[in-house]
Amino acid sequence: MIVSEIFRSLQGEGRNQGRACTFIRLAGCNLRCAWCDTSYAWEGGMRMSVAEVLDRVWLLNGKQICITGGEPLLQRDEVAGLLEKFDRHGYTVEIETNGTQDFRDMQAFASICMDVKCPSSGEQSDLSLLPFISQRDCVKFVVADENDFLYARAVMARYDIRGEVIITPVEGSDYRAIADYIVGENLPVRFQLQLHKILGMK
Ligand code: SF4
Repeated sequence: MIVSEIFRSLQGEGRNQGRACTFIRLAGCNLRCAWCDTSYAWEGGMRMSVAEVLDRVWLLNGKQICITGGEPLLQRDEVAGLLEKFDRHGYTVEIETNGTQDFRDMQAFASICMDVKCPSSGEQSDLSLLPFISQRDCVKFVVADENDFLYARAVMARYDIRGEVIITPVEGSDYRAIADYIVGENLPVRFQLQLHKILGMK
């Protein structure tokens, strides 16, 4: 598999926000979001076997894992190999995906955090995947402005999303305005700032 980096940090987003976590960031992405903060993972990376990744994770000494990217499910066979091993050894795994790749075959072994791309990103997720989000998964909208907020609201009205819905402002956007939209509309979501960035962590 092609790995951009493996590191320990605090999970800054999603249902596991605030938990110490080992991140496996896979290289390569099929999207080019306007505000992408991990564009260094679009290309490059190092080739590692599943066994090498597991050895590295084991040395980092933590049982909470996040497989992210880039778009990790572009390497689905390798990810499936990792999941099987993690499952056997009692790890808890979350996959962060950009909502363009089918994740159903991963759900027995990992929770899913599906990022639904909003208009300001210039990209689009596959909304037909939303009905497969389970209660232990989550859906995240990264919102830059009112237009994105209205898009998120419309998607939520159209799909019965079973997992928790999170709205995260784009870094540097008007956080207060987005919080006010949520309160004003009484939208059943969790507002989240990217905790790792506030803390100056990766
Ligand atoms: S899907 Fe993620 S990694 Fe890919 S361009 Fe968008 S924000 Fe960046």
